[in-house]
Amino acid sequence: MNKSYIMGANKLHVLKGINLDVDEGEFVAIMGASGSGKSTLLNIIGMLDTHDSGLYELAGVKIEKLNERKAANYRNKFLGFIFQSYNLINFKNVAENVALPLYYQNISRKNRSQIAMHYLERVGLTDWAHHMPNELSGGQKQRVAIARALAAKPKLLLADEPTGALDSKTSAEVMKLIQEINDEGKTILMVTHENDIAQMCKRIVRLKDGMITEDIKIEQRRL
Ligand code: ADP
Ligand code: MG
Repeated sequence: MNKSYIMGANKLHVLKGINLDVDEGEFVAIMGASGSGKSTLLNIIGMLDTHDSGLYELAGVKIEKLNERKAANYRNKFLGFIFQSYNLINFKNVAENVALPLYYQNISRKNRSQIAMHYLERVGLTDWAHHMPNELSGGQKQRVAIARALAAKPKLLLADEPTGALDSKTSAEVMKLIQEINDEGKTILMVTHENDIAQMCKRIVRLKDGMITEDIKIEQRRL
C-alpha cells in the first residue's frame, strides 16, 4: 500500500509499500517515531482516509474508492475507534454516547439503550450512565469510548494512542481492559509510541519513514 500527500508543488510519500496481514484475534501494536506514518496507516485502515495504490481488504471485502456513504456504512459495520482524546459528544450523556453507533443500524431506541447499558457494565461504568462526559475522569472517559467502540460489535478495533493522555496507573487499567477484550477474541490494532504499552500487545509492527522495519510476535506482558 502506498500513500502520498500533495502539498502545493510538493509530494510527501508517507506510506512506502506497506505490506501487512493481520489475522482475526490478533493484538498488534504499531510503533514508530512521530511522523513515521502510524496515524496515516490507521486512518486508511479505518476508512477515514484513502490509499493511492495497493490493496486493502477487510474481513474479505475489498476497500477501494468508496463514496462517503459507503465508507460510513463499512466503518459502522466493521470498525470501532478509540482515540487519544476520547472524542465523546459533550452534550450527550454517557449512555447516549455509547448508544450512538447503534443509531445508524436500525435498532430500536429501547434496544439501543439496553445494549449501551450492557457495554457500560462491561467497562465498569453502570453507575455513570446518566452522567455527562465532563463529570468523568480521563480513564473513565476512555472506558466510555471503549464501550462505544464495542457496542456495534466491530470486526476490528482501532486505537490511536489510547493511553496517550492518561497517567501511568490509569493507562495500566485501560490496557488491562483492552487485553481482556482481546482475550474475548476481538482483533485490535493499536498505535503507540510507548514501549511499555506495546509490550502488552502480542505483536509489534515498527514503522520508519513510511516503511515496516520490524514485525515480530512477542510474549504479552499481562497486568
Ligand atoms: P505519525 O502518526 O507516525 O506521527 P502521521 O501519519 O500523522 O505520522 O504523519 C506522517 C507524515 O505525513 C508526517 O510528515 C505528516 O506531517 C504528514 N501528514 C499527515 N497527514 C497529512 C495531511 N493530511 N496532509 C499533509 N501531510 C500530512
Ligand atoms: Mg500519529
